Amino acid sequence: MKRHPERLILFDVDGTLVRGGPAREAFGIALEASFGTTGAIDGHDFSGKTDPQIARELLLGDGLTLDRVKEGLPRLWEHYLAELEARLAVSPMQMIPGVGGLLAALEGDERVALGLVTGNIASGAQLKLGSVGFAGHFRVGGFGSDSEVRNHLPGIAIGRACEVWGREFQRTEVWIVGDTPLDVACGRHAGVRTMAVATGRHRLKELEACHPDVVVEDFRDIKGALLTLLG
Ligand SMILES: [Mg+2]
Repeated sequence: MKRHPERLILFDVDGTLVRGGPAREAFGIALEASFGTTGAIDGHDFSGKTDPQIARELLLGDGLTLDRVKEGLPRLWEHYLAELEARLAVSPMQMIPGVGGLLAALEGDERVALGLVTGNIASGAQLKLGSVGFAGHFRVGGFGSDSEVRNHLPGIAIGRACEVWGREFQRTEVWIVGDTPLDVACGRHAGVRTMAVATGRHRLKELEACHPDVVVEDFRDIKGALLTLLG
């Protein structure tokens, strides 16, 4: 284990490290099995949102009460993880170009601690990343299963990193890397540095408009990304 990392780099999952995959279908099947409805899932925007937020939006939109939603969430996650695991075995996530090389370089650098900040529930993130061999890179994270509110997740991840690596990370030593305006917003809320990457649904110009510290098209320029994150 790295003894004295100087940087904590927290990656989003969908649209940032991986894309595609069967999560949306698995989510719909799990909603139907747990609540008897998917709500208006077709066309619903999942990007940048936490899993419990997506469930609540769809189900309240379909007339369910908040109490009913909260009560059914444990069953929903159980169904979802079973569906996701079975489907990922047949159609795994796709690696986003450049990510494998970037993660290998960061993993090999003594200065770097890696983690996640994602709206996925923790086990869902592990399954998705595991389907492309990335799961082992990340020792800590803030997940949709920790809080429905994405802005709470960086603080949770940073707190866990402090425990694991035994040091306080200053906010200027932490990066949030993600593909949506909501990633940039949660990083700014936490007072950390933000890198937006246009490998998800949002184009470079849309991301620039949110004023992250850095915007990149993708991670194929590994040296450039390393210079930025470690500089
Ligand atoms: Mg994303």
